Amino acid sequence: MAQVALEEVRKVYPSGHVAIPGASFTVADGERLVLVGPSGCGKSTLLRMIAGLEEISGGTLRIGERVVNDVAPADRDIAMVFQSYALYPHMTVAENMAFALNLRKRPKAEVEARVREAARILELDALLDRKPAQLSGGQRQRVALGRALVRQPAVFLLDEPLSNLDAKLRAGMRAEIARIHARTGTTMVYVTHDQVEAMTLGQRIVVLKDGVVQQVDKPMAMYRDPANLFVATFLGSPAMNTLQGRVEAGAGVRLADGALLPLPGVALPADAGEVVVGLRPEHLAVAEGEGVVLHAGIETVEPVGNEVFLNLRVAGEPLVARIPPGQVPEPGTTVGLSLRPGEVLFFDPSSGARLRA
Ligand code: ADP
Repeated sequence: MAQVALEEVRKVYPSGHVAIPGASFTVADGERLVLVGPSGCGKSTLLRMIAGLEEISGGTLRIGERVVNDVAPADRDIAMVFQSYALYPHMTVAENMAFALNLRKRPKAEVEARVREAARILELDALLDRKPAQLSGGQRQRVALGRALVRQPAVFLLDEPLSNLDAKLRAGMRAEIARIHARTGTTMVYVTHDQVEAMTLGQRIVVLKDGVVQQVDKPMAMYRDPANLFVATFLGSPAMNTLQGRVEAGAGVRLADGALLPLPGVALPADAGEVVVGLRPEHLAVAEGEGVVLHAGIETVEPVGNEVFLNLRVAGEPLVARIPPGQVPEPGTTVGLSLRPGEVLFFDPSSGARLRA
């Protein structure tokens, strides 16, 4: 096992494209860390640099105590699982899992023991004699994980390993990967564009945008306390609502349509002037009388079973509220909304930086 430390790691592709201007973070020994961000933000580039599949243009990469910038992939003590996991179709599950070890000429007894152990962890014992064609998509992905597991690397690197699976299988495999990680205790770096996968699987998350690390933190801490507008709106579904306005000291925020969003007791950012107000959909509630702080027109109502999404419009801007099923207002009407004042976030409209009191 080992920690993975990046210090100002940089990637400039031969085309001149600066994919990673300089990224620094550390994956603790035994930690499960998720790299997340939209397509093209540089997740795969970072992971491939850790794997040694992509040259590092600058900075320092350490696995354990060793600087590995110029160490070949095979000598880095890592195992990588990709989105497309080509299993050898003519080999059995056991042979597929044993392949890398046989290639390294490991003793037969050791290979068999490691395959047995991986099969036990992955619950593949009953399938060891099958060919890939006789397996379901989820089982095949488990074999792909098994091939990485048998190598007992110091670090697992996973690049969108669940993208090819359907939603239900993906949820199951997510839990399985967490379980495998708990059993092996091996340091794991997991790449995904899916914020739900990141939130559920990451012990900590690194959010990337345009090759730049935006924030590194535990999932719920980051959700509650995002460093900037990008992180705030990237995490959460439906996304956080944003309203433009101007701070009025001691009162609240004056919205674009002239209405005041009263924020009694809320520490408003000082000297902020124009701000973006961030309101999570679950922090809004339909209300009457005293608690009402906003009036919103209801455009559409989306029941999703255990809750209802209200698509609203306030001061010309779209807003979503998540409310419990039950007394759901009608589209075309106007509702009063209350909010939890302590949960309101403020951002700088031009830089997106978080504004604090
Ligand atoms: P992600 O995995 O987050 O989708 P990538 O790491 O694949 O993003 O890509 C990051 C950026 O680097 C993108 O703008 C992409 O177009 C660019 N890129 C990736 N591979 C190469 C390459 N071989 N040559 C030039 N640019 C590349």
